[in-house]
Amino acid sequence: MSEDAAAAIAARVAAVRAQIAEAAARLGRDPATVTLVAVSKTQPAAAIRAAFAAGLRVFGENYVQEAVAKQAELADLPIEWHFIGPIQRNKTRAIAAAFDWVHSLDRLEVAQRFAEQRDPARGPLNVMVQVNVSGEASKAGVAPEAVVALAKAIAHLPQLNLVGLMTIPEPSADPELLARRFRTVRELRDTLQREGLPVWALSMGMSSDWSVALAEGATHLRIGSALFGPRPRKTPRPKGGGDASGEGAKTCG
Ligand SMILES: *Cc1c(COP(=O)(O)O)cnc(C)c1O
Repeated sequence: MSEDAAAAIAARVAAVRAQIAEAAARLGRDPATVTLVAVSKTQPAAAIRAAFAAGLRVFGENYVQEAVAKQAELADLPIEWHFIGPIQRNKTRAIAAAFDWVHSLDRLEVAQRFAEQRDPARGPLNVMVQVNVSGEASKAGVAPEAVVALAKAIAHLPQLNLVGLMTIPEPSADPELLARRFRTVRELRDTLQREGLPVWALSMGMSSDWSVALAEGATHLRIGSALFGPRPRKTPRPKGGGDASGEGAKTCG
């Protein structure tokens, strides 16, 4: 990575952090209650290194194999890795080994596999249930009506620490609509609390809508392009070679 490219990342990191601190102050929120998760999918390890040098410590990845390769290159850095992508059944063991946080848990079977596969020596895996607040428009996540039952089932499992909820609303230019979507998830989190679950986290908000999410109580902002610039396109894998899992086929944004 050129010095210019690293400097551009440092400048974007500083600008986004300043914007978040300012927005938190306006909302009367302590900026320490807001975690900036730098979404580094498709970005090279050098870009993560540049963002780390600029002060970021928490990084979010969507594809297990890609993440594990970059983690090997960045093993000298004390990074907290969050998994935020769609979870394939056959990837749960790798995810439980390579990450300490999972934002995109959307079914009990996957939670049960994590509970079996997570090495107790690593401490519990922090998980969030992904909520589908946009109905038919998006397939990822559980329906709001199903969240309480799933959360209660997950809360009983060993090696898992259910911390909260995550959502990716359908993109919209209407901040009122987005605010309603985020509010639905916050109210679900509050419902879980009333049901006795010690949940607190709300992973919501990306480059285009984080300020709306923050105003609705987000604790984890998942921001990619505003920090790293536009994502490089994934180069197609050669025919016949490589990953039959379909990993990389699904992304968001
Ligand atoms: C890619 C991605 C993001 C970041 O998107 P930007 O628009 O680049 O900020 C956040 N969350 C998830 C789940 C993603 O896949």
